[in-house]
Amino acid sequence: MVQRAFRESEIVEQLRALGVEAGGVLLVHTSFRALRPIESGPLGLIAALRTAQGPDGTLVMPSWTGDDATPFDPATTAAAPDLGVTADLFWRQPGVVRSDHAFACAAIGPKAEAIVKTALPLPPHTPDSPVGRVRDHDGQVLLLGVGHDADTSLHVAELLTPVPYGVPKHFTGRGDDGRPVRIDYRENDHCCQRFALADDWLRTRGLQAEGPVGHGTARLARAQDIVRLAVCALRDEPLLFLHGAEEGCAECDEARASVSAERVP
Ligand SMILES: [Zn+2]
Repeated sequence: MVQRAFRESEIVEQLRALGVEAGGVLLVHTSFRALRPIESGPLGLIAALRTAQGPDGTLVMPSWTGDDATPFDPATTAAAPDLGVTADLFWRQPGVVRSDHAFACAAIGPKAEAIVKTALPLPPHTPDSPVGRVRDHDGQVLLLGVGHDADTSLHVAELLTPVPYGVPKHFTGRGDDGRPVRIDYRENDHCCQRFALADDWLRTRGLQAEGPVGHGTARLARAQDIVRLAVCALRDEPLLFLHGAEEGCAECDEARASVSAERVP
């Protein structure tokens, strides 16, 4: 059966019913595939988000590269494939500003520059990264057709705690002479599936709205609530977001191994 296409005005109604604030800062993680069809496609979704926020709202999307071998250029570098088609179209739109570094976000609206024009954050999701600044501005986090496994604000919480794990990563920047240079760093990364724990923390306190957007399911919560509840849980159990050693998750095993490696003198 071919599903009917949602009109832009219907998406606006759904976003308002969910609780998207007029005039606020909104960080959106999207799987367009889970929502479609929407008239005018991902651009129709972006237009609906802007309408729901009104002219004083600031819309933010992740816009980092998935390419660690090529220097980032904010004017040409594609967003990482796992961020989805909406995020990769968003930074290309007129009036959208994008960070100048590999761990970029893109934004439009009155607070766009204040949120995305940060110094290079290392690791990528520090409290002063673009995602961290969404929290500083008391922004909302909207998960469209994705769960908290896509919720980068939880990486900010890991760094604030701070968690003891970090796996080796690198990206390619430019040296003073303009030549590509490899930059190594350590990142609080893993498979992120257990970020789904945030659903219960937020739901039991009535801090997460859930409802339909297009044909998909959306979650909406404040960045400050997400980070506060996660820091609280992580201080009790720093490895809470990692799969157990018996669960056979290679990414979480690598993060877990990074902890014991540090404890060996
Ligand atoms: Zn895992």
